Amino acid sequence: MYQTKDILIGELATEFKTVVAMVHIYCNDHHGTVKGLCADCTELLDYAETRLDRCPYGEAKPTCNKCPIHCYKPEPKEQMRLVMRYSGPRMLLKHPILAIRHLLHERRTVPAKPLPNASNRHKRLK
Ligand SMILES: [Zn+2]
Repeated sequence: MYQTKDILIGELATEFKTVVAMVHIYCNDHHGTVKGLCADCTELLDYAETRLDRCPYGEAKPTCNKCPIHCYKPEPKEQMRLVMRYSGPRMLLKHPILAIRHLLHERRTVPAKPLPNASNRHKRLK
């Protein structure tokens, strides 16, 4: 299992748990890993965790595919897109609660603008 940095709070921690599960499904099926992750996927999760930490929406963030802010660099963005496309439908079987939560979250309206100082990073460094 991926060792999280344990820096994310509340909704963001749950969001990240969902991403971790999705990357595991993808990596196990594509990169021949069994329980752990390959180096690339570990790096991708590290990157995702940092992005979530710095997301200006903080806990009010929309799901990433609905977010008006594009904070991923092109390469990890493409990697993550492939992960989501593959693992999305498989999540319902493997992690139904996380999957349903994510689907509901996706239907929420997107806040027009982040509140000031809402990011996880700001809160944990306060
Ligand atoms: Zn992998």
